Amino acid sequence: MNVNHVNLEVVSGNASQFPDSGLIEVAFAGKSNVGKSSLINALINRKSLARTSSQPGKTQTINFYNVEEKLYFVDLPGYGYAKVSKKERERWGKFIEEYLHKREQLKHIILLVDIRHEPGKNDIMLYDWMVYNGFEPLVIATKLDKIKRSQIQKHVSVIKKTLGVEDIHNIIPFSATTKQGKDKIWEVLDSLIDP
Ligand code: GDP
Repeated sequence: MNVNHVNLEVVSGNASQFPDSGLIEVAFAGKSNVGKSSLINALINRKSLARTSSQPGKTQTINFYNVEEKLYFVDLPGYGYAKVSKKERERWGKFIEEYLHKREQLKHIILLVDIRHEPGKNDIMLYDWMVYNGFEPLVIATKLDKIKRSQIQKHVSVIKKTLGVEDIHNIIPFSATTKQGKDKIWEVLDSLIDP
C-alpha cells in the first residue's frame, strides 16, 4: 500500500474504548524493546508517530492507528519489562488477552522477536495461542542489521525451531535502520486488505 495518511485514532486503556468502525485489524505484539514502534513507523513512513520506548514498558495502552481508512495497526503493549511489578504485569496480560480473544476484526497478529536472541517463554506462549486460534502466524525478526549477513540463516533457524514455525516464509527478517524486509511485510498486509 502507498501510505500517506495515518492517524493515531484511539489510545485505549480499557476495552470499552476500542474503535467500532469495523475496519480490519493487524496487531503487533512482542517483548518490550523488540523494535515494535520502529517497525510500525517504518511501515507507515513516519519517523516517530508510534511511540519509541524511551521508557520501555511504561505505556500500557492499546493504540489503534488508522491506516488510509483501510485497516488499523494495533500496537499492543510490550511484555516482559522487568521493572514492572507482578501485579501490573498481570493486569496488562489480561488487557492484551481481552483484546486478542474478543476482536472479530482482528485478522492478523504479527509477533516480533529480536533476530539475535532465542524467543522467550512469552513469545512461545503467544505463538502457540495464535496457532491454536487459527491465526496464520507471521513472525518478524527485528534488528536484522545487528547481525552479519552470514549469520542470518542460523538465527532464523533458531527462531523457527524454538517457536515451532512450520513454514520458514512466515519469518521475515527486518531492519528499521535499512528498511530491509519492509516490502515483504507490506506484501503480506496488502494481501489481507485485497485477498
Ligand atoms: P519497542 O519497545 O518494541 O517499541 O521498541 P522500539 O521500536 O522503541 O526500539 C527499541 C530500541 O531498539 C530503540 O533504541 C530503537 O532505535 C532500536 N531498534 C529498533 N529496531 C531496530 C533495528 O531494526 N535496528 C537497530 N539497529 N536498532 C533498532
